[in-house]
Amino acid sequence: MENRTYTADVEPGTSATVAGWVHETRDLGGIAFVIVRDKTGKLQVKLEKDEMDEELVETGLDAARESVVKVTGDVKEEPRAPTGFELVPESFEVVAPADPQLPLDPSGKVDAELPTRLDNRTLDLRKPDVKAVFEIRSEVLRAVREHFRDVGCTEINTPKIVATGTEGGTELFPISYFGEEAFMNQSPQLFKQLMAGSGLEKVFEIGPIFRAEEHNTPRHLNEATSIDFEGAFHDHNDAMDVVEGVVKAAYEAVSENCQEELELLGLEDEFDLPEGDFPRLTYEEAIERVNATGELDEMLVYGDDLSTEAERALGEDVGEHYFITNWPSEIKPFYIKDLDDDPETSTGFDLMHPRMELVSGGQREHRYDHLVEGFEQQGLNPDEFEYYTKMFKYGMPPHAGWGLGGERLIMTMLGLDNIREAVLFPRDRQRLSP
Ligand code: ATP
Ligand code: MG
Repeated sequence: MENRTYTADVEPGTSATVAGWVHETRDLGGIAFVIVRDKTGKLQVKLEKDEMDEELVETGLDAARESVVKVTGDVKEEPRAPTGFELVPESFEVVAPADPQLPLDPSGKVDAELPTRLDNRTLDLRKPDVKAVFEIRSEVLRAVREHFRDVGCTEINTPKIVATGTEGGTELFPISYFGEEAFMNQSPQLFKQLMAGSGLEKVFEIGPIFRAEEHNTPRHLNEATSIDFEGAFHDHNDAMDVVEGVVKAAYEAVSENCQEELELLGLEDEFDLPEGDFPRLTYEEAIERVNATGELDEMLVYGDDLSTEAERALGEDVGEHYFITNWPSEIKPFYIKDLDDDPETSTGFDLMHPRMELVSGGQREHRYDHLVEGFEQQGLNPDEFEYYTKMFKYGMPPHAGWGLGGERLIMTMLGLDNIREAVLFPRDRQRLSP
């Protein structure tokens, strides 16, 4: 809009046009205030009934809450106004009226349940604290991209419609592709590996993953944003170094560039940057520590996966980001390489936040024969994956990588109770629209 000034940028002694939403109207009798809100803040517009044009005053007073208005006038210093300034209008235009019957209260004075908020995200994101989450999300994605570029990675985009899944059929969403069965991709796993073997060598992707998980939990979505990395000539330790760098870069960027948002979320004093190296616990050490907490009804034995309760007990015990390495091979996917000197133990690793898993990764099996064998052992037909395995015959370097759940990163960073708070339009068992 031509000549529009953000409310945060108005200067006393000048004329300005502001445009935004009617946040609140306060009618004090002879004088009334309309508070106009935009992306940057709020500004008080003063209406003096006896002094100003009658039609202007009426338009201002009649504009329902959340109507879009455009107001032009002189900016004056006014110590009693919330921001220290007020606008004395010469013109007051209602650009788009709002129905006075709002489905939720964007001023935040009346709380709304999450489903109501998700059904009305446009209004929900007029609340500064909700908006702050998505400003931070945007900053995290920016910082992550920048960090990847700084360490020599190329951003890629791989198909989301695929012929076969990576991890077996149960979590796949089938779709119809010109009459043929196809699926929404669960992970860019195979494609990013193919690119690690290409001339690009070090790649990353930020994109959607689709998982037909039946369970409805506070940390699972059916469509999530995965931050993926794959690097040629990397082993699992190198890959852990990369993800540690990415997570730290995200926290640092938010701490540096989102102080206002952190304040809105009440986190300004609680936002701790992860410091030092993330501890790397072997799977064996991890289950010993879980058992030592005495929090579990049943002791874990070698070969068990870590339950949600086990993750929580361990997280409380460790108290910071940590890796779990050296998993038993049998509970990690077949495309993850085993340790050269110990085929029962996998190079797979998880990066954990004290509250939950953030990342799974590992060094990949790059030897053609072993890979094909792995497909067979997994009960998958290697022929269906020929487009992938074939490339392992033409010079596939050793490589390693990982996938980081974008929403889980934001959720744990900001202490959100529910992963849905970190997604604009979440997809879950109950929710396909909006
Ligand atoms: P979990 O055991 O917590 O369900 P997973 O081991 O099945 O996760 P991976 O296949 O290892 O998940 O995916 C890598 C990362 O992607 C996970 O660590 C997590 O951060 C994220 N992720 C996976 N599935 C989901 C999901 N359904 N919703 C949100 N994030 C997910
Ligand atoms: Mg995992």
